[in-house]
Amino acid sequence: MNGLDQLYRDILMDHYKYPRGKKKIENPDIVNSGQNPLCGDSIELTAKLDGGRIAEIGVETVGCAICTASASMLTEIVKGMTISEVEQLASLVTKMLTGDDEQKDFDLGDLEALAGVKKFPVRVKCALLAWITLIEGIRAHQQGVKPEAVTTE
Ligand code: ZN
Repeated sequence: MNGLDQLYRDILMDHYKYPRGKKKIENPDIVNSGQNPLCGDSIELTAKLDGGRIAEIGVETVGCAICTASASMLTEIVKGMTISEVEQLASLVTKMLTGDDEQKDFDLGDLEALAGVKKFPVRVKCALLAWITLIEGIRAHQQGVKPEAVTTE
């Protein structure tokens, strides 16, 4: 294992042991849940908007290290972002995890630590669960409909 792998592993484990944003937001604008049955990951996501930006976000995760760490990083990075920025970021993270990471429009910070997950396709769903759940929750909010709980296949 090289030094970078070790650094990434340390970042992931830190987010797993001390998940950021593990809470439920009161009177949320965005609400959704996500399940990854293959691994047993389960998340509940709540967020509040203010002036078109994510003002508060919480994700309660019961799952593996990768799912928990990814959700924790998500809550840190999307806070203060506009919906459109969140959508761009989610698309960037998806590309990074599915191997198509040519373009890097902005600094992914701790999220770079997830890049190694692409070597383990079965774990990519763990890493993407919180992102897909947030995007689906945003879509439902924008359309004024009840969100469809996300289930990966
Ligand atoms: Zn998992």
